[in-house]
Amino acid sequence: MSDLSELIVGIDLGTTNSEVAAFVDGRVKVLGPADRQILPSCVGFSASGELLVGEAARNQQALYPERTVRSIKRRMGSPETVMVGGRNFTPPEISALILRELAEWARASLGELPQKAVITVPAYFSDAQRSATREAGALAGLEVVRILNEPTAASLAYGYGDGSRHTALIYDLGGGTFDVSVVTVEGDVTEVLASHGNNRLGGDDFDDLLAARLMDEFQKRHGVDLRKGYPAAHARLRWVAEEAKKKLSFEPYVAIREDALIEVSGKPLHLEMEVSRLEYEEMIRPLVESTLDSVSKALQDSGKGPGDMDAVLLVGGSVRTPLVFNLLADRIGLEPRGDVHPDLCVALGAGVLASRLSGHGVGRVLVDVSPYSFGISFLGERGGVPYPHCYKPIIRRNTPLPLTRTEQYVTSYPFQTEVDLHIYQGEDDDALKNILVGDFRIEGLNGLPGPNEILCRMRLDLDGILEVAAVEKRTGKSKQITIANALAAKSPEEIAAARKRSQELFESRSERVDESEDDYEEIEAEEGVIEGEFAAAASLPGEPEAADLVERSRKLLDRMHQDDREEAIDLHERIGTAIESGDAPALAEASRALKELLFFMEGRAN
Ligand code: AMP
Repeated sequence: MSDLSELIVGIDLGTTNSEVAAFVDGRVKVLGPADRQILPSCVGFSASGELLVGEAARNQQALYPERTVRSIKRRMGSPETVMVGGRNFTPPEISALILRELAEWARASLGELPQKAVITVPAYFSDAQRSATREAGALAGLEVVRILNEPTAASLAYGYGDGSRHTALIYDLGGGTFDVSVVTVEGDVTEVLASHGNNRLGGDDFDDLLAARLMDEFQKRHGVDLRKGYPAAHARLRWVAEEAKKKLSFEPYVAIREDALIEVSGKPLHLEMEVSRLEYEEMIRPLVESTLDSVSKALQDSGKGPGDMDAVLLVGGSVRTPLVFNLLADRIGLEPRGDVHPDLCVALGAGVLASRLSGHGVGRVLVDVSPYSFGISFLGERGGVPYPHCYKPIIRRNTPLPLTRTEQYVTSYPFQTEVDLHIYQGEDDDALKNILVGDFRIEGLNGLPGPNEILCRMRLDLDGILEVAAVEKRTGKSKQITIANALAAKSPEEIAAARKRSQELFESRSERVDESEDDYEEIEAEEGVIEGEFAAAASLPGEPEAADLVERSRKLLDRMHQDDREEAIDLHERIGTAIESGDAPALAEASRALKELLFFMEGRAN
């Protein structure tokens, strides 16, 4: 860039985090040193009085709250001052320090210190709050050429604002605030029709709930309440809770181990536990549901219904929580979009406007996403009857790349030692209507009497290479395959041919009964709460015989009449339960019944 006055940056000055974006190499990019793009909106002073902005300030926040300030955005526009390190500051003065740091980040990337900026604010910000934001810009040496509403910025990042008229719902759940807006976008004009929210609700509250759960567990194990007099351990657990929460967005469970949280009488006390996503989702469900009430109110105020929405756009770090996506999709009846990085979306949108104002024609921001969903088939229910080719994506389309997602399934019959994975590309909940992209078998699993947890991990990179692994959770035993070109576009003919192939594959499998090949599907979706690991069962008298009966009858399931099949499955379950609970008489009884059934079945089969 040759003319300094041409450089305009877009800034998201957030409650928890802030970012700066600008037009670089033909596209809008978020700028930052090395691999950092997000600046925590935190300011502080070190013990020696040195100014700390961002990460360093955030890191000392728990230990030195009197020397650190966070969430200053909440005070913008109010006359109050904040005391930091023994000195008083106005909210715009603190915000200016954050803006100045971002301007430095831009200088490091562009070689020039920006002097003009577009800065975003929430749609509900009053005139006083907007003026305070302008003042912060001026104090940082930035001319604020536009104050931009955050939902408008999000819609710009998604490419609305070019051409036809759209109505969108923008759902923004950050660390400490929640906003939902209904906007119409036409050309360069975006109108915020209605806006609702709660500026005391966000991912931090999720952390608090999870941290409370960890502290309860610690108290149960060690009899010590960390809420009383252990500030360092408390702060550490909040950090652990946040990390665990983030993992639970992509993994079905998280194993937490924190050594020596505190010492009591010279003895270090540890925390060790596992939290499943289902358990976590139950904790946060009331909070997520409360955001849906705001969504309904915003729709009502805007005079629009869910069916009028052209898009639901997800913004803010906490929208990665799968429960948010699922409940919102149910409520609106439209799949929400999170393909523009949710943490960076507002900054990128500000960058789009900044680029346009400085004379660069920019449409939407460019992101690399998976254009397809990927998942595996499993035994579930369709129309009230068991169906072995149920499908639910593990990787959802329009998710930014690269990415890794894991889901948990369980084996579907007792003593199961192998699992076949069929990997599909597509959206249909009937796997056979999707495209089979690969399959493999994992063998040598622990043949447990009860359900054995199997994790399916999918990793998709920017080159379209899809790695799929199946992992037996209790042992870590795993097998994986790599599928190259998973993202290659397929012609309609190829798709039709692939579907036909997968249909035939399954038809031929069910015909191969004389090879004793069973078509009784391998893995089953985990529906209920994961109960934790099954204790290794002590061997009961009659157990090996029962295992043999289960194995023999399983191979005949395909040929059984519906009623017999149901009875056989029921007996398999009873045998499994009897072994797990060490109930020898129940095992003998179920084995006897299965043996009888098998006698007739094998007689008929021969
Ligand atoms: P924001 O205020 O938009 O920067 O969002 C910050 C919030 O997003 C914090 O509460 C983070 O813990 C949360 N967050 C970041 N990554 C994830 C994730 N993978 N899953 C759930 N929440 C996340």
